[in-house]
Amino acid sequence: MKILVTGGAGFIGSHTCVELVNRGYEVVIIDNFVNSSKRSLDRICEITGVMPILYEADVRDESVLSEIFGEHEIDCVIHFAGLKAVGESVAMPLRYYENNLGSTIALCNAMKRNSVKKLIFSSSATVYASGAEPPFSEGSPTGGCTNPYGWTKYFGEQIIRDAARAEGDWSVALLRYFNPVGAHKSGLIGEDPQGIPNNLMPFICQVASGRREKLNIFGNDYPTPDGTGVRDYIHVVDLALGHVAAIDYLSKNVGESVFNLGTGKGYSVLEMVKTFERVNDIKIPYEIVGRRPGDLAVSFTNTDRSAGVLGWKATLGLDDMCRDAWNWQKKNPNGYSGL
Ligand code: NAD
Ligand code: UDP
Repeated sequence: MKILVTGGAGFIGSHTCVELVNRGYEVVIIDNFVNSSKRSLDRICEITGVMPILYEADVRDESVLSEIFGEHEIDCVIHFAGLKAVGESVAMPLRYYENNLGSTIALCNAMKRNSVKKLIFSSSATVYASGAEPPFSEGSPTGGCTNPYGWTKYFGEQIIRDAARAEGDWSVALLRYFNPVGAHKSGLIGEDPQGIPNNLMPFICQVASGRREKLNIFGNDYPTPDGTGVRDYIHVVDLALGHVAAIDYLSKNVGESVFNLGTGKGYSVLEMVKTFERVNDIKIPYEIVGRRPGDLAVSFTNTDRSAGVLGWKATLGLDDMCRDAWNWQKKNPNGYSGL
């Protein structure tokens, strides 16, 4: 069976490609490398022994999508391609709407034209309304996003839902990721942020490697046990396996389904720092600074639906996430560009 993976060279896409190949699927990638490196494909090959088929192109280019669907019998599409930097989306909202929604619309159009009926979409916990009470379940209120990136996920879900309903025989999974971190245990693929990392784990890794002096912790006056923000961190390999489970699910279920992918456990920023220090035996200097605008105090998922309906559960813990993220960072101090 062949799977088309948009954005397959990126952080989550590359880990998912590995698990797809491990499961015996043939993988076709479309990526324009706007936020990734071609070298991640060599690494996928090093891990699995199989080089994925690559189309270096923008997903918004419907002629390339038609070419792909013409040349390959694609059973299911996993749509990772998108821009994801929250701050940048505030500064350049139109770029985000154009890229993230344009690629989703082009993909749905091409799927419709070529009778491809299965789609898995990378959505995010950021679609939950700021007034929703954690743990978030798939029925929790959504909307009221605090930045254009979040809205692209909210509208992306809606576009796909409407397209699927109009077709009637599509099988669609909208996967809302919590906080993906960590790396493949080989240390060959991992997260490679460009510039100053926005997210906690890559920032900690760069402090550990000496590339940054200290971590700024954004607020210690939240209503949480130690005052710092709480998130549901999920190992990227568990997340990748969630996509494999979604393919199985879509082969038996028509219509659209929403699943939260997280561990169901929330950890604070300080717990993350302490765990990283203990597991890797490295000190992480930090300073408490003001809150980051738009941040929630607490975000974690209810896992009932992903466990009961999708039949998937995360198995790796915070220790694994910290160990594997550092292993990747140590082996690739400058990410893929150092190769
Ligand atoms: P990433 O930036 O590492 O990967 C995205 C990939 O898509 C990159 O390889 C990039 O080059 C490619 N891409 C972007 N726009 C494209 C286009 N128009 N045409 C072709 N390729 C394009 O990001 P990631 O962390 O792997 O995230 C994958 C998906 O999951 C994204 O849609 C992201 O919004 C979503 N998501 C990520 C997180 C997270 O914390 N990493 C959380 C929730 C949801
Ligand atoms: N955070 C922090 N310093 C950083 C980056 C993040 O204190 O340099 C905190 C942030 O305020 C939040 C948690 O770490 O409480 C996770 O942030 P991240 O950006 O990784 O994920 P998101 O906020 O998007 O869930």
